Amino acid sequence: MSFDLAARLSARRAENLYRQRPLLESPQGPQVVVDGQPLLAFCNNDYLGLANHPQVIEAWQAGAARWGVGGGASHLVIGHSTPHHALEEALADLTGRPRALLFTTGYMANLGAVTALVGQGDTVLEDRLNHASLLDAGLLSGARFNRYLHNDAASLAKRLEKATGNTLVVTDGVFSMDGDLADLPALARETRAKGAWLMVDDAHGFGPLGAHGGGIVEHFGLSQEDVPVLVGTLGKAFGTAGAFVAGSEELIESLVQFARPYIYTTSQPPALACATLKSLELLRTEHWRREHLNALIRQFRQGAEQIGLTLMDSFTPIQPILIGDSARALRFSQLLRERGLMVTAIRPPTVPAGSARLRVTLSAAHTEAQVQLLLEGLAACFSLLGPVEPLEPNHA
Ligand SMILES: *Cc1c(COP(=O)(O)O)cnc(C)c1O
Repeated sequence: MSFDLAARLSARRAENLYRQRPLLESPQGPQVVVDGQPLLAFCNNDYLGLANHPQVIEAWQAGAARWGVGGGASHLVIGHSTPHHALEEALADLTGRPRALLFTTGYMANLGAVTALVGQGDTVLEDRLNHASLLDAGLLSGARFNRYLHNDAASLAKRLEKATGNTLVVTDGVFSMDGDLADLPALARETRAKGAWLMVDDAHGFGPLGAHGGGIVEHFGLSQEDVPVLVGTLGKAFGTAGAFVAGSEELIESLVQFARPYIYTTSQPPALACATLKSLELLRTEHWRREHLNALIRQFRQGAEQIGLTLMDSFTPIQPILIGDSARALRFSQLLRERGLMVTAIRPPTVPAGSARLRVTLSAAHTEAQVQLLLEGLAACFSLLGPVEPLEPNHA
């Protein structure tokens, strides 16, 4: 009897799909030290540059001095403290929803929301390219689970015709590996027409998108009737950790009663909520961060197109360069690293087969000069590797 892990591991190596964890030896930021090497990095999700912001750190320290370090218990026992509550109220205000509920991670928020809302006899319909946590949540729920074509409201409508029971339609807001936006107005229209509910996980939209950082829902001006279940995570543009679900009083009370990943876990450290309250304030009010980020995105896209790189249909800080083959994506990433640039190669199964890519992410903490260095590095490596034969990503 054997699990034969050695064979699984060597097969993964042979397919160029083996994962390694780069060791970060500095705080997040454009300039990092990884595995002993100083690098200019373009791969975190700290889109507004708040993960290492002095005021956020100060709020964290003051929070720890006032409230201690550990959450101490689950929210329903005695772990729901004043900073958690204040953060929920601030997140409700950001989203324009009556209430918000704080979760420990985005993965848990998604598992909690989906499994609390649908079960056996119900239906959950998801975009093919949804984040793994949403797909896992759909499978775990026990509802009939079906995936529609990427961002395709007509494909969704066909599946809605056959849906039974309570039906939840689930989509990323900004797709995490492609950077494109869900066509929420069309998805919401189809969903409402069938009396189903739309759940949007806007992990990558909060902060960069919307006039006040309110994400894709603010960007499109959608109501709670359009998007009854709105999820955000705090580990990306907020620069801290945790997640939330925003929605109606009844939705939030139902999650408090029935969302097992909410109920059966210790609350996050209250000091973390203090830090997030500060980063939320910066996210909403420091518009220059969004403006600077948008200027960098335009600079990057123009430069990359001149080099002849294959970009995706994205105006968000997620700017993947499509490579196709996994070995080639790894090689490209390695060449960049030799030049002092860090851009992660993203491979299957995180993305569909044949659509490995370099996932460039930009942050308000980057300067124009740093983006210029990235473009020069990309041009040099691109000419070393020769032109890519762009494989169409399997988005169908
Ligand atoms: C990162 C991410 C999550 C998970 O959030 P964590 O707080 O990191 O667990 C969920 N959904 C999407 C779309 C994400 O990108």
